Amino acid sequence: MSLHVIQSRAEFEAWRQATTTTISFVPTMGALHKGHLALFEEAKKYGQTVVVSIFVNPTQFNDPKDFEKYPRTLEEDLKKCAAVGVDVVFAPTAEDMYPAHETPKRIPLPEVAKPLEGQSRPGHFQGVITIVSKLFEIVKPQYALFGLKDFQQVRVIQEMVKSQNFPITIIACPIVRSPEGLALSSRNTRLSPAGLKKALGISQTLTLAQQLFQQGLHDPKTLVQKLTDFVSEDPDLKIDSIDIVDAQTLLPPTSKGSWLVALAVFVEGVRLIDNCVLK
Ligand code: AMP
Repeated sequence: MSLHVIQSRAEFEAWRQATTTTISFVPTMGALHKGHLALFEEAKKYGQTVVVSIFVNPTQFNDPKDFEKYPRTLEEDLKKCAAVGVDVVFAPTAEDMYPAHETPKRIPLPEVAKPLEGQSRPGHFQGVITIVSKLFEIVKPQYALFGLKDFQQVRVIQEMVKSQNFPITIIACPIVRSPEGLALSSRNTRLSPAGLKKALGISQTLTLAQQLFQQGLHDPKTLVQKLTDFVSEDPDLKIDSIDIVDAQTLLPPTSKGSWLVALAVFVEGVRLIDNCVLK
């Protein structure tokens, strides 16, 4: 089947009503890279039809400049979708998703949305759950795939699906990295070649965290201090946050559950995030 591109909500709803196949859905903001493409490949293993949305959602940007600068590359994105066998791309307009006459339904923010990014980016997760729940209502998928690059987002969506009783199975997919270790991100396109090299310090910090943990350093405060010292060695890396939390609750870790290391670091003014679960 060739790629079907739908750029209006009404047209998508008509298509959806006429569709009887099971759907795997991957919401994205475009500027597609191999991390997204891996989700599309994985999506094929679940539903019979793969639907990808491309929409740069204004309500999840707490910084308007970040929204303006977000890369928009629809033509290239469509070629990539066609090449990996996506069936339908839904690329609605802002007016389609946020009609002027409609007051968006306010979905309660799950507890897991409050720490970490919830602290650094006020309003971000409210924007995420607003758009994802709207998309879920329009696309009505049986499966939805998300990347663990945005670990907290996966937890937030899982909790939202539970609380709102969406009949959707959430599939969490591993982080795709460059051969040198940098987590792929649409924001990486805003870095200079020198910035891309500097950004490798982020995944190196996660490697250090794994090493220290495996060597028996199990005190979260000391671990965070060691990671902070490591990042601070490079004056071009500006720490926004370094946290170690319980990977389920995202609250301070206990001796029982597994631990998540979550980093947010500015490189050339671009805020990059990365994470790993300590083993
Ligand atoms: P975005 O377009 O940044 O909103 O991302 C769309 C989806 O792709 C989200 O579920 C992200 O977590 C996922 N994603 C983005 N980058 C990566 C990556 N490097 N590895 C795995 N998933 C990713």
